This record gives sequence, C-alpha cells and structure tokens, in this order.
Amino acid sequence: MEKLGTPSNTLEILRKYGFHFQKKYGQNFLVDPDKLEAIVDAADVGEEDCVLEIGPGIGTLTQYLAERAGSVIAVEIDKALIPILGDTLADHPNVTVINEDILKVDIARLSREKNEGRPFKVVANLPYYITTPIIMKLFESHAPIDLITIMVQTEVAERMQEGPGSKEYGALSLAVQYYSKPEIVAHVPAECFIPAPKVGSSVIRLTRYETPPVKVRDEAFLFRLIRASFNQRRKTLTNGLGNAEGLDVTKAEAAEALRELGISENVRGEALSLEQFARLADVLLEKKKPVGTKALE
Ligand code: SAM
Repeated sequence: MEKLGTPSNTLEILRKYGFHFQKKYGQNFLVDPDKLEAIVDAADVGEEDCVLEIGPGIGTLTQYLAERAGSVIAVEIDKALIPILGDTLADHPNVTVINEDILKVDIARLSREKNEGRPFKVVANLPYYITTPIIMKLFESHAPIDLITIMVQTEVAERMQEGPGSKEYGALSLAVQYYSKPEIVAHVPAECFIPAPKVGSSVIRLTRYETPPVKVRDEAFLFRLIRASFNQRRKTLTNGLGNAEGLDVTKAEAAEALRELGISENVRGEALSLEQFARLADVLLEKKKPVGTKALE
C-alpha cells in the first residue's frame, strides 16, 4: 500500500470506499508528507514506545507512527472508517484500532491492558470540536502519559502558552501549564488538509511534568477555583467567586483571602499567575475547615 499523506492517494482511498466526511466529527485529513514527518519527529517516537493516537481518520498519520513506534493504539469514533483502516494499515501489524469515543475510553486501563501500565505517548491531529475536553481528560484522568503531541487550531495552541494579563489567558492555559511544559513546534496552513479547515493549525508538544510546578493541597479544588474565576471573566474575582456554583465560597471569604495574599480585591482572574491561584486555593480551603481541625495540623 502506498503511503496516504498526499492529496492524490487520499482522494483515491476516499473514492474507493465512497467515504463521506462527517462534519460533526471534525474530519480534516492531513495530506502533506513534510508536516506528517514534522509531527512524528516532534513526538519523539521510537521502538520502545506505545503510541496512543486519537482519531486516525483513514490512517495517514498512523502509517508514519507505525513505522517508528513499537506499537500504536488508534481510537476512532466513526465506524465508517474502520474497514478503511483495515485496508490502509494492513502492512502494519503493530497497530490496534479501537472503534470508540476517546472521551469514553478508560486510558489508565488501556495502558494496563496494552502497555503493561507504562506511559503512552499521545499523538493526534485532533478533532477541533472537542480539543479542550480531550486535553483536560488526558491530564485530569491521571492516566500514564508522558508526552502529548497534537495538532490544534493555532488560536488554541497560543492560548495554552499564554501567561497572566493576556486576553487569551484562561482556564485552559492554567491547566496545561500546571501539568506540562507547552511548546509550539510547527504551523500548518489550511491547504495541508482535505477538506481545508477555515482556521490555521499548529502542532503543540506538551511535556508532562513529573511533579507540577506549584504545590497545592487540593488539586480538584484548585481547578474548580480556576474555572469559576474565568466563567465570569468581566467580574472582579471577589464578585465572581462569591457567586460561583459548586465552590462554596462567600464574597467576604474571597475578599479576605485576597487581602491575606496582598492582592487587590478588585483584581480579575486573568491577572493571577498559576502560583497565585494555588496560594488562593490553599487560603480559601483553610477558611472552609471546621475550626477544631485547624489546630490538629
Ligand atoms: N489523523 C487523521 C489525519 O491526520 O488525517 C484524521 C484527523 S481528523 C482532524 C480527526 C479524526 O478524529 C477524525 O477521523 C474523526 O472521525 C475522529 N474523531 C472525532 N471525534 C472523535 C472522538 N470523540 N473519539 C475518537 N475519534 C474521534
């Protein structure tokens, strides 16, 4: 089988199987061999690695990964693509295709069953309609993953790297930077895909930290706090947190905590660094503890 990553070979496969693109699945297939090589290079894939690929499509990137990796597990939601993958990946017995929604897959279990519990390298040209839920799942499920190399919208890639004060800075930037070191490694113009997306794309590599760069008592509370802080972006943090559902913080507690940290009560979430959010989470939690337990520590 000839490699797929060119417009003519991709169109031939699409014709052969009478494949119709499903908009709802964010299907834009890569047709540029140089960009495919660049992704696999950035993903640092070698024979000792088991790669988890999200959304193999017709198997274009999968072919490149299978040539370098020990094994590849490719999770594809669209069942119309499964027979096509059987054909395009026939020469690669080290690939396992799973017809599932990645958001429903238990990745830790998959790693136990297919990779002796060792970490995966995740590589994907992601479906853009669920980029953030997928990234959050990869991090928050605490599945063993040490490197994530993904194609996303350029705007989203930039958001992951932003710091305080920028308009693009938000909950996604903080989550990504808590768990990993983000690095944009390539820009990919729309004409490298069939069909061409309406937005520019970039490849970003997220190198997972062994220990996060800030210490916090309760990670889940930190992320509830961060989400609440950016849910009502235009409000001051004091007002936003005081109203936030599921956080159980009063306006007075929020104001007092900010005062204790030497931060203005009129500050907005977008001005706070990851370190400041971590300290704020700890101070707020301290206030929530029943009085008797404070002395026990
Ligand atoms: N990897 C191929 C390539 O680079 O040419 C296709 C990438 S395309 C942008 C995204 C792929 O993800 C599609 O094949 C789509 O069907 C699949 N997909 C969409 N939602 C998914 C989900 N929830 N779980 C698994 N795969 C999904």
